[in-house]
Amino acid sequence: MRIHQLTPRLSNQIAAGEVIERPSSVVKELLENCIDAGATHIDIEVEQAGIKLIKVRDNASGIHKDDLALALSRHATSKISVIEDLEGISSLGFRGEALASISSVSRLKLSSSQDDSGQGWVVSVEGKDMAADISPVAHGKGTTVEMRDLFFNTPARRKFLRAEKTEFTHIDESVKRLALSHFDIAFTLRHNQRMVFNLKAATTKLEKERRLAAICGNDFIQNVFAIDLQQGGMRLSGWIGDPTYSKSQAIHQYFYVNGRMVRDKVVTHAVKQAYQDVLYQSRHPVYILYLELDPQAVDVNVHPTKHEVRFRESRQVHDLIFRGLYRAIADLRPAELPGTPVSETRPEESEINSMEASQVLLGLGDVKPVLNDPSRKIGYESAWLAPLMSVSEQQRSYALLRSAVPNENTPTSPGQESSSEQNEMPPLGYALAQLQGIYILAQNKEGLVIVDMHAAHERISYERLKKSYQTQGIVSQPLLVPITLSLSQKEIGAVEEHQGVFVSLGLKIDILGSELVVIRDVPALLRDSNIELLLRDILADLLTHGSSTRTEELINELLATMACRSAVRANRHLSLMEMNALLREMERTERIGQCNHGRPTWVFKTMVELDKWFLRGQ
Ligand code: ADP
Ligand code: MG
Repeated sequence: MRIHQLTPRLSNQIAAGEVIERPSSVVKELLENCIDAGATHIDIEVEQAGIKLIKVRDNASGIHKDDLALALSRHATSKISVIEDLEGISSLGFRGEALASISSVSRLKLSSSQDDSGQGWVVSVEGKDMAADISPVAHGKGTTVEMRDLFFNTPARRKFLRAEKTEFTHIDESVKRLALSHFDIAFTLRHNQRMVFNLKAATTKLEKERRLAAICGNDFIQNVFAIDLQQGGMRLSGWIGDPTYSKSQAIHQYFYVNGRMVRDKVVTHAVKQAYQDVLYQSRHPVYILYLELDPQAVDVNVHPTKHEVRFRESRQVHDLIFRGLYRAIADLRPAELPGTPVSETRPEESEINSMEASQVLLGLGDVKPVLNDPSRKIGYESAWLAPLMSVSEQQRSYALLRSAVPNENTPTSPGQESSSEQNEMPPLGYALAQLQGIYILAQNKEGLVIVDMHAAHERISYERLKKSYQTQGIVSQPLLVPITLSLSQKEIGAVEEHQGVFVSLGLKIDILGSELVVIRDVPALLRDSNIELLLRDILADLLTHGSSTRTEELINELLATMACRSAVRANRHLSLMEMNALLREMERTERIGQCNHGRPTWVFKTMVELDKWFLRGQ
């Protein structure tokens, strides 16, 4: 067979194979075009999960009459013109192939007007040659794309479509993803003439939270924390979930790079690391994160659907996410909100009598019991306990956190104590009793606190062990019999390049030949572990992520086991003093919300919730 040029339609259909996988891909591409054109209101109408009809209308700039036909042809775009533009993409689209692809596998009508005259122009394509006829139409300012009969001319593709319900779920998800990154745009979505959602433009914090709740659910918004960090010209903001509010599947995980939702290995890895040892078993954290950085520092032209990106400095991105989230999670304490400058509000250790008492309990300090008399009411961190706000359905303790946001009338500057007596109650309150040898019951100003004493103590011991380990550094010790092992050249390269890293991890490795190394020193704590496996894991990390936290992870695992063994067992009787000491210690401990295995350490029931149980005041 001789070589011949493919028809435009066929080459568009081939491109459509990559870009248009299913109806939701059409929705995504059309919405991205509206957003790029500056829409503030977008209406989406779908029939039969988008297979019969997808209609998207916006109020953006519109398309010039003479450009209408061009918009439908391949490699036609208004978003870039020279190669340099590719290095700093700020629009969602730029490849100029979405409309061409869609119109090659469906019947497409594009109507648009650039002014408020009510007059516009429409083109439609359907024929084999993809020729577009243009004619006048009544249309307000903006653009409407109407796509019918998806894959009508590519029956093979049609066979890959799933049940209507599944396809609609994908559409729903596509709209949500964009709605979560463009709060200033109003979206409506109708399916088979039924309104699925109607999202108003959101600018204030409250409006944004309302949209979050509409998209991810009410319980979501009550269990996430806002974060906002900057480092090295990058900004990371958004919401991350309380570790206890984890999911059995990786849902509600959204990551945006300059407004574009992406899936990225570096990001997933960094988030996972940040949640290490606070997540229960194989649960997944929820998050909505926005990374903003110089467009030059990220390549978005990696994949036709643009779901993937390439970071120029992936290590810095990893570092920002990992450290930022790790810190934020560590700071989720009863008395504080994430992002609150911890050191400023924390009293000196010597000021707290309960500290010593708790050391008796924990068996970690000098034995010198000091009675922590609740009537003395330590005023510490009292400023955080502002009057009760709207606490309603929250299952977990963070209602307390939210209500603890200082209101305008409450003095909040560090060290400034409120004179009001009732304000001076520690966040976890004072112990009332021990229940069945397992739980501590305590009351604070707003209700009932229930603590799993073993879980809480385990976390306290674990964080202490980690801290003392960190201050002493990694002590390494020579192996009696050095381990020789052969590695690939790539791995040897990594050993050479990251010598400093290995030294800081307590590993001394000499390169013997082009494919041979010998391990001479190892971290003392890990001397009985499988060092060869450890080294191979570290190298795999270094080669894929540019950094590794394997040694720390292994050491943390060991410390966690030690902490678990040393923590108070069930059925051990605690005095009120000891219980109060534990509560105070909890308030000071990082990651206290979960034990080392990710189980919650305490829960909180407000008086409002308790009253509900008893139908009080209803
Ligand atoms: P790309 O978005 O990659 O440029 P598309 O095929 O999606 O390619 O769109 C082609 C062009 O049509 C866009 O560059 C834009 O100029 C124009 N266009 C498409 N949709 C709209 C819209 N809703 N409003 C204004 N212009 C649009
Ligand atoms: Mg586009």
